[in-house]
Amino acid sequence: MSIPPARRRGARHDPNVAPVTPPWPVYEDLHLHSTASDGTLTPAQLIDRVAKTTLRVVALTDHDTTSGLAEATAAAARYPHLTLIHGVELSVAHLNSEIHLTCHFIDAGNAALQDALTRIVADRAGRAREMVSRLVDIGIELDWDAIADAAGGAIGRPHIGRAIVDAGHATDLPDAFNRYLNPGQHAYVPRAKFDIFNALDIVHQAGGIATVAHPRTARDLHSYIGKLAAAGLAGIEVFAEKYDAEQIAYYAQLADRHGLVKSGGTDYHANGNANETLPGMNGPPCGTARQLRERAGDSQG
Ligand code: AMP
Ligand code: ZN
Ligand code: FE
Ligand code: FE
Repeated sequence: MSIPPARRRGARHDPNVAPVTPPWPVYEDLHLHSTASDGTLTPAQLIDRVAKTTLRVVALTDHDTTSGLAEATAAAARYPHLTLIHGVELSVAHLNSEIHLTCHFIDAGNAALQDALTRIVADRAGRAREMVSRLVDIGIELDWDAIADAAGGAIGRPHIGRAIVDAGHATDLPDAFNRYLNPGQHAYVPRAKFDIFNALDIVHQAGGIATVAHPRTARDLHSYIGKLAAAGLAGIEVFAEKYDAEQIAYYAQLADRHGLVKSGGTDYHANGNANETLPGMNGPPCGTARQLRERAGDSQG
């Protein structure tokens, strides 16, 4: 149990593995994306979509932007059975790893938070442009203006990947990542990331809490999770991606050992690829959002 499961198992994007569903009815999904970052549904379309499922509490957690929250909030107001949590997903760096933090209960009007997000989104644009020119080097001509227009907010590799698919150079998004966009492939360019402790500080200043997203991807998490917990980390996504029973048990004991909330969600992007986990299929047990909200109250002092 103390040896981490292989990191290649349980990936959300694996088209060859069926979605994993928990034994409970799924009322909470604390990790969702919209067109404000790299999802394909607008915030309003996403809310309409989740409103038709078992879900009662959902969080919009776009990458590095809160620009979808106003539209999502307006849409959610039409569904009295639905509670929307204001969130954001931050990519942070720690040691040799890129870690994603799903953050909840943030005040999107917080100046320090917006200042940091503005810098990150600008860096994303420069980096995406560079990736598109690297593709030209290998004979893949894409229309930068069309990609930037389609992206709108926080531009990322999925926007470029979809253009690659549309131009006929890959069969689907996972294929585009494998051929061109993953680290080690020709078009990959890294981007600016927050230092993890700095990110926790900003999120707490904005009244929110942070959880480690899809912890499979955080290399050697067990070796520094204690430090993150001491710095106010609130939880780990345990019911995430396509984790099997062993992975779930591993992250659950890691969370328990450090007094962290066991969170989760689908990380839905509406990519439309085979075996995509759809809203309502996976998520943490009922009451998880309430536990996180209590932590947010704590960190606000
Ligand atoms: P970026 O933030 O621009 O580096 O892009 C990373 C995002 O791309 C992740 O957060 C996922 O949403 C998505 N992604 C990563 N790998 C894949 C894949 N193999 N297939 C589809 N989407 C992926
Ligand atoms: Zn994404
Ligand atoms: Fe992520
Ligand atoms: Fe995500």
